Amino acid sequence: MVVLGGVSGIQIQGWDLRFRRNLFDREVTNLSQLLLLLERVALPVVLEDRRAWLPDGNEVFSCKSAFWRLSYAQLGSVREWGKSLWKSVSPSRVKLFGWLVFNDKLNVHDNVQRRRPYHCLSPAWCVCCKEAGESTSHLFLECHFSREVWGKVLAEFGILWCMPSNYSQLFLTKLGGGKRVSRLWQTTVLATFWALWLERNNRLFEDISNSVETIWDKIKFWVATWVYRNKFFEGVPFSDLIRDWGNF
Ligand SMILES: [Zn+2]
Repeated sequence: MVVLGGVSGIQIQGWDLRFRRNLFDREVTNLSQLLLLLERVALPVVLEDRRAWLPDGNEVFSCKSAFWRLSYAQLGSVREWGKSLWKSVSPSRVKLFGWLVFNDKLNVHDNVQRRRPYHCLSPAWCVCCKEAGESTSHLFLECHFSREVWGKVLAEFGILWCMPSNYSQLFLTKLGGGKRVSRLWQTTVLATFWALWLERNNRLFEDISNSVETIWDKIKFWVATWVYRNKFFEGVPFSDLIRDWGNF
């Protein structure tokens, strides 16, 4: 691994893989898939490097959590995230937007091009990083710009991991700390999707760009506004909700 640079306490790396022999053609495909997975790995500069089992709130492996992960992450995840999505404390338009993201129904370039193959889109790249094609997974999980925003989110929750490969896993991740943290996390995931989508539209249609810091401020304000007065946050002053989530 070689370090290429860093932002917000998160190192950006390139992976320098060396093999003892030349790869076969079929192995080159496997290697590109591996590098795609590794692309999402961002190691914090200052925090301890340790092993954690994320499906369990205690971060320790248990058969129960492994069973949950295998059952719901594949077969039952739609039912599970659907239930959590409609119960979440976000505004209806944001829940509906979350449903579109989870079902890959947004009008990102990738989907528009698939529906209208003879229509040439311009630009055909992601307007946030100007490096890759725009698909739902790129825009919300893989884009360098999005990852900087997620870096802020993960730092606020004190999470050290590589990003899950799909939205429902991200949304359903159990962080421990009870229902308050769980509500806060799911609301933040939806607010982050919403903020990234508005930023993408601003850049594409209005030629207006915001910094990562501005977007993070918006996300925090929205989340604090949405969860304020929710029954799980009874008695928590708005000033605490907007300032520091570490105490939840
Ligand atoms: Zn991008």
